[in-house]
Amino acid sequence: MSVLFENYGKRRAQIVKGQGTIVEDSTGKQYLDFTSGIAVVSLGHAHPAVVQALQEQSQKLWHISNLFEIPGQEKVAEKLIANTHFSHAFFCNSGAEANEAAIKLARKHTGKHHIITFEKSFHGRTFGAMSATGQGKVHNGFGPLVEKFSILPFNDAATLEATVDDSVAAIMLEMIQGEGGVNSVSAEFAAAIAKVCEEQGVLLIVDEVQTGIGRTGTRYAFEQTVLKPHIVTLAKGLGGGFPVGAMLGTAELHATFSPGTHGTTFGGNPLAMNVAQAVLNHVFEPDFLQQVREISAYFVAQLRAHLSSSYTVQGQGLLLGIGCGDTEVAPYIAAAEESGLLLVGAGPTVIRLLPPLTVTKEEIDKAVAILKNILP
Ligand SMILES: *Cc1c(COP(=O)(O)O)cnc(C)c1O
Repeated sequence: MSVLFENYGKRRAQIVKGQGTIVEDSTGKQYLDFTSGIAVVSLGHAHPAVVQALQEQSQKLWHISNLFEIPGQEKVAEKLIANTHFSHAFFCNSGAEANEAAIKLARKHTGKHHIITFEKSFHGRTFGAMSATGQGKVHNGFGPLVEKFSILPFNDAATLEATVDDSVAAIMLEMIQGEGGVNSVSAEFAAAIAKVCEEQGVLLIVDEVQTGIGRTGTRYAFEQTVLKPHIVTLAKGLGGGFPVGAMLGTAELHATFSPGTHGTTFGGNPLAMNVAQAVLNHVFEPDFLQQVREISAYFVAQLRAHLSSSYTVQGQGLLLGIGCGDTEVAPYIAAAEESGLLLVGAGPTVIRLLPPLTVTKEEIDKAVAILKNILP
């Protein structure tokens, strides 16, 4: 009998330790972790630089609060905005919190409250982020939701153009819908969003909680599109397993938040900042990102070569999906776990592949061999 609320369906394996892509359960059985704790453990488990960053800071100062300046925040912010069009950062503890900050910033800056989001999106579980999320199953039983989000069909430029008027504060979306099925923004849709934002003076919020920090082969996924968001939100991969979130914004938004307008007790604490610096020191190196793109191309080629052509290979970088048509993937994910490969779904019919960004070709070969065995 568990004394926990049963809001998670529990997996069979009880994982007790990890190193790189490999994790071990309480019986000593090893698995290839192609979930990375849902796109979090970007440098793999127990990466020495990340462990060292946490250990070193843990002996100096864990927490002081945002009443005081935290030098690590300036350093991480500078790394996040270097060679981008962003000028400022705000730190928090999770993806949902980063999105709450973004929604509040967009409302306060524009003086408007109408925000456009999209079907099958996922933005988090807090009230604002949940209301922005385009999935009924996330809303069920929790209403009334926060006003006023219009949830439009994804990749439908005509509906977007017909809907956006001068009541709209912002458009908010993921470059690749992670939880919703590994669905990428099409080039045409990106162009339509850029045009609508420009013409109507609408803010663009890109939720890169899952796609950001190298996951798609560039620092941010929007860099591979024509879009230049006013606000980007980050979390999952940024702390390599340590909880941390961030919001980046352009210079025009800087004056909107002043002391007392928005805050957090834990956000950007010295432990989180030292770990995030260690993660970014690796992930934001051009050679590292190049390696992610190469290993991604290899992975996609292996999947296409070994899986039946009835499966679709979706996504980008190391946020990939295997679309299984109308077939539910839960049994495949359970079978993979039996065979030593940890996977996670993206919606009911897509298998999501999220190995650490440090995954090797040999590990990919092993994972593909298991997938080939499991998928009919
Ligand atoms: C996971 C996720 C969130 C929510 O992040 P939490 O840290 O769980 O609050 C928000 N947006 C996207 C795109 C995500 O993948």
